[in-house]
Amino acid sequence: MKVHLINPSGMSFGTAVITPRWLYVLAAATPGSYGDPNLIDETLEPLEPSQIQPGDVIGISIHTGNALRGYEIGQIARNRGAWVIFGGIHATLYPEEPHRLGGAHAVVKGDGDVVWASVLEDCRNGVPQEIYEAGRIEAASFKPARWDLLPPKRYMWASVQTVRGCPKHCSFCSVWRTDGQRPRQRSSDVVLEEIVQLRRLGFRFIALADDNFYPVTLTDLELAARQNNPARLAELKAIRDERFELMFRLAQLPPDTVFFTQITMEAAEDPEFLQAMKAAHILGALVGVEAVTPQGLKDVYKDFNCAGESLVQRLQTFRRHGIHVLGSFIFGLPSDRPQTFEATAAVAEQAELTFAQFVMLTPYPGTVDFARWEKTMQDDQTRIVGVPLTRHWLIPAPLRPKIYSPHPAMTDHELRQKTQGVWDRFYSLKSIWRRSRSSKTLKARLAFVLISKLYRRMYADTGIATDSARVARSMRLARWIAKPCRRLFAGRPMPDLQVPARHGNRFESCPLQVLQ
Ligand code: SF4
Repeated sequence: MKVHLINPSGMSFGTAVITPRWLYVLAAATPGSYGDPNLIDETLEPLEPSQIQPGDVIGISIHTGNALRGYEIGQIARNRGAWVIFGGIHATLYPEEPHRLGGAHAVVKGDGDVVWASVLEDCRNGVPQEIYEAGRIEAASFKPARWDLLPPKRYMWASVQTVRGCPKHCSFCSVWRTDGQRPRQRSSDVVLEEIVQLRRLGFRFIALADDNFYPVTLTDLELAARQNNPARLAELKAIRDERFELMFRLAQLPPDTVFFTQITMEAAEDPEFLQAMKAAHILGALVGVEAVTPQGLKDVYKDFNCAGESLVQRLQTFRRHGIHVLGSFIFGLPSDRPQTFEATAAVAEQAELTFAQFVMLTPYPGTVDFARWEKTMQDDQTRIVGVPLTRHWLIPAPLRPKIYSPHPAMTDHELRQKTQGVWDRFYSLKSIWRRSRSSKTLKARLAFVLISKLYRRMYADTGIATDSARVARSMRLARWIAKPCRRLFAGRPMPDLQVPARHGNRFESCPLQVLQ
């Protein structure tokens, strides 16, 4: 009985940007008695069905974007006599779908790290359950990934998770509903073990694939102190202590190691934290800016962000501390008007963002926005190959319309055109070249241009374009650029690298201070 873990994708680039972490985590959750699982990432190459034999077990993790391809694979595997198990965010939200459409024998809802061994055991005994309620496990039970199974020279960045969950509740995001609002943070010991293993293999660019790298803000601490809640305060301080401990140890890794993470803008109020990030080689962060106006932020329940001039200053604060920002903006908010696009493009430039992405407000399953939109669509009779628009991910890709949240003042076409215009402006050769000034050598500047163009191709054209010829062209170009880009990110293997020792600091005496 062979175990296959499959990451479905309708597009294969031959080289991928970031390792699909779940494949390597579930590989670690697979007991040794089954042998090493066969890991198939379709963002590299499509599945070869003949690999699947009767009695094998197939684990497929899906999010909304790749659910339909996941169901195709499930059907193929089931027809070949395999046990078919689904998991991932989408299967957790819609557990009946994989059973109805994907040939599933079982669906795992929630974190698969612990329950996976029981699922395999049940398959071996021929009695898998229809649903496994795995829930949210504690951080101590998260499995460290099996990086020894990575294929060589295929990925640009590796991914390591340090914390799951986000205390916020943005209307367009499902993370706080699926991963929960209580941060489940891993100990720096296990995180460092993984990172050092990856650095030994020659990965020097590593994404800290967290929902929010800054789970405790200064405001949270002040609030707990003001409320005279010592237990809460101690809990928050312990989380913060461990963040600093992690960063202290990352700071001791070889200086060419680079980390990238995802963080809320509130971190800009916390210079100590930003200094620690810089010292820890966390040189880039995706910051969800979303909107540049107070009304826009209210639209998405993100009032904790800033708008206007203070927004520009906050974003610049990251840069002043040596942290490059990938700013993420959303267009199509109810309060957006034609002038919002121009204002957003200007903020992105003034705030000295290194990269930016401009996405259109899309009601994703599991979000507040989706629930609201689904209600408004109750009487909609539109069907494409028999599928209602509220289940658009089940429409075959060539026929699938782009679904955006309805806008009170602008058409989809207008929103799309203006969004594309902002991408074009931000990623014009002239703008990229200007931004590349922070790179010290000509070679580094040229590398920056290449990476900027790749980023734009992968995320703007394939994400927004509705015309399939343009998508195909973008894919070809991205495939072509991806290989040289991967070489730019690769590092020298360091097989003898040791895990930096624990410092055991207290929150009151940040160890990073000694590094400044
Ligand atoms: S968008 Fe970011 S800050 Fe908002 S809930 Fe999701 S992860 Fe948290």
